[in-house]
Amino acid sequence: LAADVSKIKPILEVLDDEPPLTPDLVDLAGWLSERYLCTKAAAVQALLPSGMRAKASTKLRLAGDPPFVLPASLEADLLQSLYQSPNKTKEQLIAERPEWRPILRAWVAEGILEESYRVKQGAQVKTITALQCSLDSAAFQAALEELSRAKKQKEVLAYLFDQGVAVPMKDVLSELGASSSTVKPLLEKGYLQKVEQEVLRDPYGIAHEQPEQPLPLTELQRSAYDQIAAAVDTQKPETFLLQGVTGSGKTEVYLQAIASCVEQGRQAIMLVPEIALTPQMVERFKKRFGDDVAVMHSRLSAGEKFDEWRRIRQGDVTIVVGARSAIFAPFRSIGLMIIDEEHEVSYKQDDHPKYLAREVAMYRARQHGATVVLGSATPALETRWWAHQGQIRRIEMGERVMGQRLPKVKVIDMRNELHEGNRSMFSKALKKGIEERLEKGEQIILFLNRRGFATFVLCRSCGYVARCRECEIPLTFHKARGLEQLRCHYCGYAERMPETCPDCKGDHVRHFGTGTQRVEEELHRVFPQAGVIRMDVDTTSGKGSHAELLQRFRNQEAQILLGTQMIAKGLDFPNVTLVGVISADTSLFVPDFRAAERTFQLLTQVAGRAGRHLLPGEVVVQSYNPQHYAVQFAKKQEYENFFQHEIRVRYGVHNPPFRELTAFTSVNTDEDAALRIARTLEDRLRTLFQGRDDIIILGTSPAPLSRLQGKYRFNVVLKYIRFKQVGDPIRTVYLEAAHEAQKAGGYLSIDVNAQ
Ligand code: ADP
Ligand code: ZN
Repeated sequence: LAADVSKIKPILEVLDDEPPLTPDLVDLAGWLSERYLCTKAAAVQALLPSGMRAKASTKLRLAGDPPFVLPASLEADLLQSLYQSPNKTKEQLIAERPEWRPILRAWVAEGILEESYRVKQGAQVKTITALQCSLDSAAFQAALEELSRAKKQKEVLAYLFDQGVAVPMKDVLSELGASSSTVKPLLEKGYLQKVEQEVLRDPYGIAHEQPEQPLPLTELQRSAYDQIAAAVDTQKPETFLLQGVTGSGKTEVYLQAIASCVEQGRQAIMLVPEIALTPQMVERFKKRFGDDVAVMHSRLSAGEKFDEWRRIRQGDVTIVVGARSAIFAPFRSIGLMIIDEEHEVSYKQDDHPKYLAREVAMYRARQHGATVVLGSATPALETRWWAHQGQIRRIEMGERVMGQRLPKVKVIDMRNELHEGNRSMFSKALKKGIEERLEKGEQIILFLNRRGFATFVLCRSCGYVARCRECEIPLTFHKARGLEQLRCHYCGYAERMPETCPDCKGDHVRHFGTGTQRVEEELHRVFPQAGVIRMDVDTTSGKGSHAELLQRFRNQEAQILLGTQMIAKGLDFPNVTLVGVISADTSLFVPDFRAAERTFQLLTQVAGRAGRHLLPGEVVVQSYNPQHYAVQFAKKQEYENFFQHEIRVRYGVHNPPFRELTAFTSVNTDEDAALRIARTLEDRLRTLFQGRDDIIILGTSPAPLSRLQGKYRFNVVLKYIRFKQVGDPIRTVYLEAAHEAQKAGGYLSIDVNAQ
């Protein structure tokens, strides 16, 4: 590609003294762009914390008096806007009136407008003001004489002279009980000077005086640890699957393996599914390793992320605990990367580049000679399969640390309940179980598959269902401060709950299903004596709210914790002896070939929350499809048998791990355009792979969410055995089609190894 040199803009400012990306990260960006078919620029962006990404803007100013007076017109409006606020950026002006774009271009070319570029980093280094004495001994003595009657000033000057270094101003003031008016004359005379000191924002500013000691390992833990530590020693790339039942003590193995890696002067990355949900993990790392740990996750401010990133880059820390993107931590010599709950969907990035953390980890392992540990009680089917094939070494921990038995799981057939006249959302068994726990003062976790999943609104007389005008998916019923509302969970659209049916004008509109709010209401009705904490997207949107709600439950301020899948992960409460799943079915019948796997994983994880400590645990799962194999194997907590069953299902229909899937989605506000682009792509792929029976193309079809935020979406899915054999040809076809999609005012996204 030949670039037009005249269009390249001059460099205005160099933002970093040191290049932010090390050579291995530059190489990684190259790999990302090839593997996930994104641009190099997008790949580089993914490697940097948001605060490092520079934002460019263009300021436009009138070069002089406008040479003309305009009658009312687009141009006149633009002129007026430029007069009123002369400092607007081009981007702001275009956002104000998109029609101004060509005029702006023309006026710049004619010299009526002057352009200037600005580059600003998203986050800035934070500084504080410090004071320093600028006098030598002789001058200091003279100054003391001169200040003989200003006692406080003398004190401040003497203090800073003694310190010899700069001291933060607020410390000086509080230490000596001085005020800024004392300091001011000293600064004016030049006895003191102000210096700006760089400080790091520490989101988890907890000081731990006494580091926690490692626990003596059980036999199973010891064997797992030995194998992992030995692999780290060899400095050769290697991947393990640490398959340990819930409560088998995987975390302790991680901690000690990391300690051993760090002792050898190498660095370690610990990934957790969504760190805001696992404050205990961060706490354990901080307790064990103190200040040696950086934390990276989406709930930090841009400034905090920026600082954590710099601590890693500067070598101030050797361990990072974080969500998905922490896999890009700019360490120099990585020895160990651990992915906990490796089967979780949050390890797949949902924006370009749509990378999978486990693949990135394995690539970095090759770069650094590092070890990767994939930990889970319910590994992704692919991971377990690769272990079966010998590409990954499997370590099994089949028993809980203290030998506690896995909890008994009861599956309740909800159809029978209905036949027996129980119309409540709680089966008799669950109700009885809750009553018993409440009496004994033990705690209960109730789990709902998805927030307000089925709380749709329906007219009982004509069958009308309230849907979002933009997305066409059913609206969800919400009740807040007495106000009944319908909300779209995809675009945020909201309207009032209708009193009469918009279609038949009848008054039989009702909300149906079991959202967390309805379960909460029902709990208050059936068990008025019990305190309930509800955890879902609505109650946890604030920054520290997850941790706060969990802490309240831990302190036993309430006996029941009710929540969506966010409570299925990594929580560990000694007093919980009953876990109830309100409906196992909600995740079973979604149009996704992974539905059985996800349901099995979810149920097993949830069941693992009960009886982890001294008290024995019980799990009650309610289902309208109790005979389904995902439910049955989860009931017995038999991962291996589930794996054997599911792998045959996958083999039969050419799904992962036997084929990899790449999905293309054509998106456009114009339905015909979206469809046309998808069809063109499909045709080209068919031509490209004609006669290749190892490649399957699933033709153009509406995406699972066929209309989202007012845009139409169509999918084309490609199944192949090895990406290497198709990557290059796909790239060419994809880029062409993506370009056409853009010209048509939409876009074409690609998801390599779609999950
Ligand atoms: P997993 O992540 O495999 O589900 P955890 O790491 O949460 O299991 O461990 C379960 C419980 O066992 C935790 O409370 C942990 O503190 C405890 N534990 C882990 N290892 C040991 C050990 N070697 N000795 C005593 N307790 C342990
Ligand atoms: Zn109606």
